[in-house]
Amino acid sequence: MNNPNAENFLEIRGLKKYFEAGNSTLFSRETRQIHAVDDVNLTLRRSEVIALVGESGCGKSTLGLLLMGLEDPTAGTVTFEDQDITHLNDTQRKGLRRKIQMVFQDPYESLNPTQTIAEIVTEPLLVHGIGEREERVKKAMEDAGLKPAEVYLGRYPHELSGGQRQRVVIAAALVLEPEIIIADEPVSMLDVSIRAEVINLLADLRISRQIAVIFITHDLGSVGFFADRVAVMYLGRIVEVGTMLDVLEKPQHPYTKALLSVIPVPNPRLRHERIILQGETPNPINVPSGCRFHPRCPAAFDTCKLSDPPMTTLTKTHQAACLLVAGSK
Ligand code: SF4
Repeated sequence: MNNPNAENFLEIRGLKKYFEAGNSTLFSRETRQIHAVDDVNLTLRRSEVIALVGESGCGKSTLGLLLMGLEDPTAGTVTFEDQDITHLNDTQRKGLRRKIQMVFQDPYESLNPTQTIAEIVTEPLLVHGIGEREERVKKAMEDAGLKPAEVYLGRYPHELSGGQRQRVVIAAALVLEPEIIIADEPVSMLDVSIRAEVINLLADLRISRQIAVIFITHDLGSVGFFADRVAVMYLGRIVEVGTMLDVLEKPQHPYTKALLSVIPVPNPRLRHERIILQGETPNPINVPSGCRFHPRCPAAFDTCKLSDPPMTTLTKTHQAACLLVAGSK
């Protein structure tokens, strides 16, 4: 069952999550659906870092919850180490949690203010009935940068800084020795000065503990040096995926180009002409026809309203879903 040599040890195929959104009008029986995640395909390799990037509401956090089993998919499959984990019962799901852990955006909300740091980091071990707790807790805390662990064990969350609290959240994830961490906007609530520290910590952990990371962020600028690959999401779908250099140096999708164009970049080689997108992200209940980006796309042409662009392979590592890339103009 477990194949440690599997290159793609997490595989997502045709994953969809639609939420019911009530009737379209007061007197209508037609039920509307929110297309939060809409036919996502993605693979993750062992100890790889993938940045999942897009505006808020694009479905990237829902995708994280689906991978954790905190939401049930509407369609599609997720395979982890050759095991189909799309629909698991509670016992199987609990076993999986040891291997896939999530770090949420807000360290203030993630921590119980009435528990000491020792209690918070020990709790996952108690839930999973794992022994040698003291040793594991200290190692997880020190690997998360809370050194020496003894200084922090008896403290409460309110006695720590924002960065230290996020390190406690990461320690509580590490204590189960996971193989994947899904980090959902892990630095967006932190001061700018602390963000780099937490990103550096995650970068160190993927090397020292061989952990793969799915780094969910709205800020393409925060992933530059850290991610191996970048997947750009728009309105529930991945529209471009490639190595970090593919996407940052040779973006192909007009949406990726727009995201990149507003990032302040010191390196002139990576600087792009500023593109201001018109309008808001469309409502995921009314997904536009054809290419879902066409109402905001500065490069749109007539066919874009009619034809949904396929994901086109540009190189072995780089794909994008745009009719211009597919040569359909
Ligand atoms: Fe823009 Fe058309 Fe490409 Fe969609 S298919 S991204 S609307 S050019």
